[in-house]
Amino acid sequence: MALQFSDIVEEARLSARALMDFGESLFSPTVRLGVTGLSRAGKTVFITALVHGLTRGGRFPVFEPFASGRIARARLEPQPDDAVPRFDYENHVRTLIEQRQWPHSTVDISELRLVIDYQRQNGADRNLTLDIVDYPGEWLLDLPLLHKSYEQWSNESLALSRGSARAPLAKTWHAHLAGLSAEAPADEQAALAAARLFTDYLRACRDERFAMSLLPPGRFLMPGNLAGSPALTFAPLDLPKHGAAVEGSLWAMMRRRYEAYKDVVVRPFFRDHFARLDRQVVLVDALSAFNSGPEALVDLEAALGGILDCFRVGRGTLFSALFRPRIDRVLFAATKADHLHHSSHDRLEAVLRRSVARAVAKADTSGAEIDVVALSAVRATREAQVARGRERLPSILGTPTSGEQAGSETFDGNTEVATFPGDLPDDPEALFNGAFRGLSSASAEKADYRFLRFRPPRLENDGPEGAALPHIRLDRALQFLIGDRLQ
Ligand code: GDP
Repeated sequence: MALQFSDIVEEARLSARALMDFGESLFSPTVRLGVTGLSRAGKTVFITALVHGLTRGGRFPVFEPFASGRIARARLEPQPDDAVPRFDYENHVRTLIEQRQWPHSTVDISELRLVIDYQRQNGADRNLTLDIVDYPGEWLLDLPLLHKSYEQWSNESLALSRGSARAPLAKTWHAHLAGLSAEAPADEQAALAAARLFTDYLRACRDERFAMSLLPPGRFLMPGNLAGSPALTFAPLDLPKHGAAVEGSLWAMMRRRYEAYKDVVVRPFFRDHFARLDRQVVLVDALSAFNSGPEALVDLEAALGGILDCFRVGRGTLFSALFRPRIDRVLFAATKADHLHHSSHDRLEAVLRRSVARAVAKADTSGAEIDVVALSAVRATREAQVARGRERLPSILGTPTSGEQAGSETFDGNTEVATFPGDLPDDPEALFNGAFRGLSSASAEKADYRFLRFRPPRLENDGPEGAALPHIRLDRALQFLIGDRLQ
């Protein structure tokens, strides 16, 4: 593919930045850890729990430098990028622990700097700076747009929206589109209406059918600080097979805005944030996808493939000549494992591993090390065997959040209930070939309260280090993500 001038400028900027970061890290070793995932995957909760555990003595037996006592302390420092909002850790921790409520979710990029004082295995004292960058996964799905023309994107988006599952959600937008001619004179009101109806359609895909996870442009759903901006006022058009975007036409206007979106939104995100990451964790609400059935899994797999493609930059892509990808470890983590009994945690991991493996095979990745874990950053449930008739069912105990309903019951936020969440199948294949039809139906009438949202737990106060938040396998995630940098 021929390099365009703008791409060369982009590469020069990237390498200047990489050089600057490299210089800084010579004096003070730094790891930039990206935390991403689609909306409500669990990013905010993950970062809050991770920082709380590191700074306040969490229980991390599998995180070797911590468990062996080589980490003296971890402390927050002002984050380095003036143009990026700080991750609101103190507020989130207060909400989570004092109020026992879930904090507000990620809607924009934010950053937090943690400095870890530790002893090397040879006894020398060192520190490692950990910059945690939280950003919406929706933005990542925008990166493929860099290599697509407006016409390609428009045709693809339209074709997707005409598929059987999405067409009903796109009805109003399609009706509006039918009245538009791409070659008619540019009309701001038409563009505004098209963008609004197209965004409504994207939102419906996300909300009504969790399954549909491939929804670029990402900023239409997660605008960050660009809400209402003209860069977001474009939409696909039904383009004639033959014809051209004549100056002054609606087509030309949409195409210009699409290119502006790439220039002012996508490229800067890639250059200023994504390209500077060293490690990446991708959080996935896999349980919700399993519950939506095999179609949702195919979609999830495609989304994982799209994300993996982003880590492949550097190999035969436009950015390969000067810039080498820095991300050398990627962790895919299925979140909210506390909604399952521990007997299903390995199965949850196996299904995600299987989805990622298929995506890896398709994506031909760049050799970054990839791992998979099923975790719960904050464990809101305990476990119990509950007698049901003659059976004893492996169940979970938790306090549903105030206002949650199950059947005719509305919970007050203070009552603990035992629920049988259902089992995942032993063979992950069952999820893909349709033999498994959702957690609740798998265990038929026995499964209940499947979709309850539980309140965050109380701190566990019994450890020598004081109070810690309970979790599942958060320490394994830490070991993979930064354990080797604390040797
Ligand atoms: P974000 O949009 O990726 O930042 O998602 P959040 O971190 O805000 O999480 C979204 C919601 O998922 C929270 O409000 C919780 O209800 C739930 N959640 C996230 N992590 C956990 C977890 O570890 N355990 C449980 N039980 N729920 C979680």
